[in-house]
Amino acid sequence: MLGSVVVGLGIAGSVRIRDLSSSLPSGSEGKFALKGFVSRRPLEDQQGVQQITFEDALARNDIQVAFICTENISHEEHIRRFLEAGKHVCVEYPMTLSYSSAVDLCALAQQKGLVLHEEHIELLTPDFKQLKKDIVGKQLEEGNLHFTGGPLKPGFGFLSFSGIARLTWLVDLFGELSLKAATLVKDEERQYMKMTAHFLTKDQNRPLTWIEERGEGLGRAKHIHFRFDSCVLTELPAGQKEPIGLFMQDQLLFGRKLQGDVPPQELEAERNRILHCLQLADNIQRFCQNTAN
Ligand code: NAD
Repeated sequence: MLGSVVVGLGIAGSVRIRDLSSSLPSGSEGKFALKGFVSRRPLEDQQGVQQITFEDALARNDIQVAFICTENISHEEHIRRFLEAGKHVCVEYPMTLSYSSAVDLCALAQQKGLVLHEEHIELLTPDFKQLKKDIVGKQLEEGNLHFTGGPLKPGFGFLSFSGIARLTWLVDLFGELSLKAATLVKDEERQYMKMTAHFLTKDQNRPLTWIEERGEGLGRAKHIHFRFDSCVLTELPAGQKEPIGLFMQDQLLFGRKLQGDVPPQELEAERNRILHCLQLADNIQRFCQNTAN
């Protein structure tokens, strides 16, 4: 049993508290005992769990694991503080808002012999799992992934970081990418932003475009247009709904890592994918800033 704390009581943090307080699916390893939650606001007990201070969470010997569910802007500092205090960390994506800080934190975790796990529930959704199966054996000719959503909340970083889930889809489906160009259109008054990034796949040099568009009245949706040698996919397939929720699936993966049950080559491949995506996100941000100046 690993004593745990949840930091940040928003949407993700509340789901984490619920999942950490419920019993694990039978046969699952890596049980957590939730010792408290940390919030900037003074709050009553949440789902039977008590609020504790950030300092207590760092200092207490009965807490070995931190779940960081705060806005993206504070991930870096929170991860560093918990790793330095000798705690394992599960952080909601994106790990940080720069590639270099993520590299430093991965090195710090390794040096301390701790697990630093970045949640990627988007890879666990039924539609993504089905899409991945559906494209096996097909050769991509060109593709487009367009995400729309409401205005970005403050503290979530540049669009290439807040939207890293979409970039992770592309990299998980088509392998490493090289960035060719990126643009940003912004209308602050309307809280509107549109980022367009153009890539080539590294193995076949095929063009891929990622658009992240946010503003008032834009519904949360993903549109795909993937042209393969044998067919064109314009709709996400409906995958089989699973009995275990997405955050719980992620918690089980984190638990397996803590138990040493994930093979080293799998851990390395995951780390490479995470850092590759963060490096692309960093480059996209720089590209947009340079072209705006
Ligand atoms: P949210 O705005 O609902 O929650 C963020 C919470 O963190 C807020 O309650 C805020 O008060 C709290 N917080 C911020 N700084 C804090 C601090 N210093 N100490 C304690 N609490 C602090 O956002 P969310 O949707 O829950 O997203 C949180 C994280 O989860 C983000 O990194 C996001 O990218 C990630 N994520 C969210 C989802 C989702 O479905 N909501 C899915 C995947 C990943």
